[in-house]
Amino acid sequence: MSQQARRKTNMADETLAGSGTAAVQDRLDARFLAELGRYDHVTRLPNRLQFIDQFTDLAASEGDTMLILVTLADAKHYNEILRALGMAFAEDFVRAGVRQLADLLPPQTTVYHVSVLSFIFAVPVEDQTRYPFVASAIAAAFSGSISVNAIPIKSQVGIGLLPLDAQRGAAESLRAALVAAQDSRRADNGIAFYNHQSDAANLRAFRLLADLPAALASPDQLRLHYQPRIDLQTGRCHGAEALLRWTHPDLGSISPAEFIPLVEQTALIGPLTDWVMSSAMTQNRKFLDAGHTMRVSINASPVNLSEAGFDDVLLHRCDTAGLEPRHIELEFTEGTLATNSARAVQQLGRLREAGIDVALDDFGSGYSNLSYLARIPADVLKIDQSFVRPLKEPGDDDFLLRHVISIAQGLGFRVCAEGIETAHAYAHLRELGCDEGQGYFMARPMPSDLLLQWLDARPKP
Ligand code: C2E
Ligand code: MG
Ligand code: MG
Repeated sequence: MSQQARRKTNMADETLAGSGTAAVQDRLDARFLAELGRYDHVTRLPNRLQFIDQFTDLAASEGDTMLILVTLADAKHYNEILRALGMAFAEDFVRAGVRQLADLLPPQTTVYHVSVLSFIFAVPVEDQTRYPFVASAIAAAFSGSISVNAIPIKSQVGIGLLPLDAQRGAAESLRAALVAAQDSRRADNGIAFYNHQSDAANLRAFRLLADLPAALASPDQLRLHYQPRIDLQTGRCHGAEALLRWTHPDLGSISPAEFIPLVEQTALIGPLTDWVMSSAMTQNRKFLDAGHTMRVSINASPVNLSEAGFDDVLLHRCDTAGLEPRHIELEFTEGTLATNSARAVQQLGRLREAGIDVALDDFGSGYSNLSYLARIPADVLKIDQSFVRPLKEPGDDDFLLRHVISIAQGLGFRVCAEGIETAHAYAHLRELGCDEGQGYFMARPMPSDLLLQWLDARPKP
């Protein structure tokens, strides 16, 4: 307990002895607790609440001021310390860090402990557009390690700078300074000014994630487009890839290339993939009923396949939609095999046994090594567009493409080329014996009704 807190407890006891009333005790307890809640219990420094209370005074100081937010380590590093050395040591680490920090600051500086690893303070500056000297001094002092109970612990400080502006308000200033400190981890010298552009991108990402549940519940924000997949040897269309489209009520059309990677970081990827599966399968039933024998490909995220029971849900959805497994293909990417590989491989194996085709998407865009190629649990390899799109006219280099097709087929995979944009690419891939293809040259992704018209307009096999 801090001296201040102990003093207050004593004070409370004395007063209570005198008064003896419960009402006074309650009032004192409330005051004591309120005061206690304004200090961090690890460092005994004023906390975020005090920073917010005193922000107006800080902003009213004469001359220009810079807010500097220092984080001692990123969360991953801190968790490693917690795991290896325990909570008490982790608290010692924070105390040692702030002692080292305080030694570098002008004596009158108030340091606020605003989150587990973050401290903020204000320094007067002459030029708000340049790094204050103290920021460089902190970066230099923390470039080595912090000695905690005689153990040198590697420090990883982030230093965020924000010119103090009363208009911005306390809470928003804290947020912006924290964004700057996070950005500083990507800067060579470990210091970064608040950057509105990178922040705007983060805010947009946050907004997209916050708005996705409403999109999932809405009848028309999310839709699937279907891109035909063509057998290059016969020219027939046997399948289509379901590709997600999101029309946001305010932000308009959002590319899956933007929102899927965000959603993959959250638990929303489960319901989203489930939505895609159900919609694509219901739609495929309609394609079949309209007389088109189609296999619809569904993209799965690595997280989906690392979750137990994904295979059961997929097979159940397939059954409910009145489809046979051969009417479905599941696409996964190399990243899937990196995260929780054992479970992913097991689920992919089970789906294949049940008769569902499995395709490795974007093959060649990751870090594939040849020895792993033979063990990929897939029926189809979809060669990444980056191999195919450069093929524009006769004479264009096809060395890698040719050999990838031949190795993949030698290992027993069917090969599908993605991103066929020209007649030359189409003809050349056909000549190279590539089995299937997808690309703007044949057809762009389109809504289901247009795909039906497109299929109807093609000569019947
Ligand atoms: P992908 O699965 O590799 O899908 C192929 C992408 O290439 C699609 O982009 C498609 O529109 C585009 N494409 C097809 N042919 C051509 C071509 O000839 N030229 C060019 N330049 N592009 C072509 P899209 O629809 O923007 O999707 C981007 C990525 O977003 C997809 O890449 C996939 O990784 C992801 N994605 C889309 N829908 C879903 C989904 O339902 N679930 C998951 N997990 N990911 C999805
Ligand atoms: Mg795909
Ligand atoms: Mg792809």
